[in-house]
Amino acid sequence: MITGLNFIGGRWCETARSEPNLNPSNLDDVVGVYHWSDVDDAVQALEAARAAQAAWANGNLQARSDLLHRIGGLIHARAGALAELLSREQGKLIGDALAEVTRSGYIFQYFAGEVLRNSGQFVRGLRDGFTISVEREPVGTVLLITPWNFPMVVPSWKIAAALAFGNCAILKPSEFTPAIAVALVEIIAEAGTPPGVVNLVMGDGQRFGEQLIAHVDAVSFTGSNAIGRVILNQAAKSMTKVQLELGGKNPLVVLDDADLDHAVDVALQGSILQMGQRCTASSRLIVTRRVHDAFAERLARRVAGLRIGAALDPNSELGPVATDRQLARNIEFVTETQAAGAELLHGGGVVDTATRGYYMQPALFVGTRRDMRINIEEVFGPVVGIMSVEDSDEAIEVANDTEYALSSGICTRSIKEAEKFRRASRAGLVTINAPTAGIDYHVPFGGKKPSGYGGRENGPAAQEFYTEIKTSYNACSP
Ligand code: NAD
Repeated sequence: MITGLNFIGGRWCETARSEPNLNPSNLDDVVGVYHWSDVDDAVQALEAARAAQAAWANGNLQARSDLLHRIGGLIHARAGALAELLSREQGKLIGDALAEVTRSGYIFQYFAGEVLRNSGQFVRGLRDGFTISVEREPVGTVLLITPWNFPMVVPSWKIAAALAFGNCAILKPSEFTPAIAVALVEIIAEAGTPPGVVNLVMGDGQRFGEQLIAHVDAVSFTGSNAIGRVILNQAAKSMTKVQLELGGKNPLVVLDDADLDHAVDVALQGSILQMGQRCTASSRLIVTRRVHDAFAERLARRVAGLRIGAALDPNSELGPVATDRQLARNIEFVTETQAAGAELLHGGGVVDTATRGYYMQPALFVGTRRDMRINIEEVFGPVVGIMSVEDSDEAIEVANDTEYALSSGICTRSIKEAEKFRRASRAGLVTINAPTAGIDYHVPFGGKKPSGYGGRENGPAAQEFYTEIKTSYNACSP
């Protein structure tokens, strides 16, 4: 069995408390025992990062780029074993886990290039004899707080960007997915990252989060809106720079003229696969009246045919829910939506399999209304409601009728309707004839308020959060 330690100042450290981590596909399988940090451990990580900051920021750029390349290469070389660990710990199907690990490797290699593209400007001043340089400097020491649903790729895109732009990092992964975080940090250390540049503190963020937020230079958080709000309030006290990537209640619109089989595929991919545990999941299906019944019937048939089983079994098409807390929340939404009068077309119950795990049948509802909780709050599970609308105007109105603004999609054969939707959508991401989930790492990712706050992640846009601009006036020019 693995014992996972915290990583502080280049050393693996024990802490006073440790907790077992169970495989959601098989609760009799203990993945490992992980050491949870307290305030003292977090303060040590902060001191280690601060001590390493100046040398890292001022170090050789080629060496920094090479290091990120090496980390990416090691991730690719060990992709199979990492994917197995991720799948076992989080319950993600082994194929999806391998895709996530592979993407993480590419992200480090992409940011290896960003190290060298971080150029500034040099301009003549308005006053005679003045030259002005505008350069981007590292923010400093950054705290990276991450969720359980993408436990490899989200830490990867935060750490890779932080390091590329010269920052030192403290990673606080989800308490539900420490194993893959430890494996990632092991690779980062093995690649030759100097002590203190990346630190790992695990466990319950409530115990030491506020202490760290008060003293780091910036905090990048991915997680729920509820905790995001807590982080923002805490950061306000010290005016710590904040980036928040939060939840979604993402609409997928299907119009009369859509290729219906393709639309069903898009809806299945976006809303049900990966157990709906994606911030960009299509969790409100908005379908025009004339194709509503045919769409719902075909989607229900596809959902009913999915094989549910252990995440490591290559024959499984749906794995378990990641945590007991999430399973309970999903079932609560099923019960409440039925009580509110919607019709359950398929699923919604827990499933018994060969092993004890957090298995459930995805739930598909028709006859849901926009004032029902299932269409207002993020479920974060395979519990999805279909709403019937008259035409594209009503579809857009319903799609935008949400507190969230992360992702949105439309299925239509009409370029005009697609463009109308793209322009009208309030979301930060729009997809056309493609699932609302699934993103590329070389372009900006993120939602608008309140799904996102404080600058986009990924692509060149990542430098907005991980750097600060310095403008220097030099009066000594000839
Ligand atoms: P969560 O908000 O419960 O926890 C996220 C992280 O915050 C965890 O590491 C947790 O330990 C930590 N945390 C909790 N309280 C804290 C505190 N007081 N101080 C410091 N840290 C604290 O989220 P989750 O359940 O892990 O993940 C699911 C949520 O993440 C969903 O809402 C989903 O939409 C969102 N998400 C968003 C994106 C995005 O990029 N927009 C991506 C993935 C997940």
